[in-house]
Amino acid sequence: MKKIGVLTSGGDAPGMNAAIRAVVRAGINQGLEVLGIKKGYVGLLEGLYDEMTARSVSDILHRGGTILQSARCKEFKTQEGVQKAVETAKEIGLDGLVVIGGDGSFRGARDLSLAGLPTVGIPGTIDNDIGCSDYTIGFDTALNTVQEAIDKIRDTCRSHDRCSVVEVMGRDAGYIAAYVGLSCGAEAVIVPEKHFDFKKDVLQSIAEGVKRGKEQHLIIVAEGVTKDNISAIDMAKRIEEETGVETRATILGHIQRGGNPSVKDRVVASKMGYFAVELIKEGIGNRIVATKGDDIVDYDILEGLNMSKKLDAELLKISEILSM
Ligand code: ATP
Repeated sequence: MKKIGVLTSGGDAPGMNAAIRAVVRAGINQGLEVLGIKKGYVGLLEGLYDEMTARSVSDILHRGGTILQSARCKEFKTQEGVQKAVETAKEIGLDGLVVIGGDGSFRGARDLSLAGLPTVGIPGTIDNDIGCSDYTIGFDTALNTVQEAIDKIRDTCRSHDRCSVVEVMGRDAGYIAAYVGLSCGAEAVIVPEKHFDFKKDVLQSIAEGVKRGKEQHLIIVAEGVTKDNISAIDMAKRIEEETGVETRATILGHIQRGGNPSVKDRVVASKMGYFAVELIKEGIGNRIVATKGDDIVDYDILEGLNMSKKLDAELLKISEILSM
């Protein structure tokens, strides 16, 4: 193993830069040449890369986004695309690759490994929705961003005796909603993992709150719920019509994907990047680096992709009890 590549793929997440830095510097420390492949699998298909030095990753540990940029690449999903990527990798002399991204990116990493380019995946997504890893890079920073925004929304809710419906990201998972629901004291937290009854869980909860003297209300809804059911805006309209409480909807959107990574994200990203190099330097590919509790572990990609984890139902239960 002489030369490895590193790329970021899929949606970006705070801490991806810290992982890139770790891969580059741990690789150099092992005597490897490291190429930074640009724009995810697009760069691998088109041969877009920079030769990385310890200095090319200076001053990025604390920055959000990804210096290598990220992309979604349809062509790479085809067999011809994977073949072309392996040929480009050969041309530029890559012996191995580290892919930082989500489960779609890992499917690509598996295809590359099977086609002869040992590839290791590092989970980088704010959604925390990788079944084999307790934690994914970016989740903690996103939680802090959402919490800060909701705290501000609370201030203005209080001034006007309002209800706020806040839609947060998470794709098909409710991790962000469930955690901030508890940390922000939401009256109702609506996630895709749990069936909800709008009348009972939202309208009734607000009406009962009003009877108990509540003057402000916070409803958190995960995007995975709104895309198939009622939108946050329609939810707000219904709440106002049926309870008489003035209600506003806020869709936090991409603010959740940016910002300087938290301590936790920098530490996990640095450890995972280092660990990925430990595998790839031995020519070990087709693995996903993951966390199990506080430990860094690794799984076969297919095994990892087939694993699932459960949203902690206690978070929702405690949230409900404490929002009385
Ligand atoms: P996130 O969910 O955080 O956005 P992700 O990695 O799941 O991250 P995707 O858009 O699903 O994001 O995947 C990123 C890229 O990985 C795709 O553009 C594509 O090039 C590749 N990819 C996705 N799914 C597959 C697949 N089934 N087989 C091969 N490659 C895939």
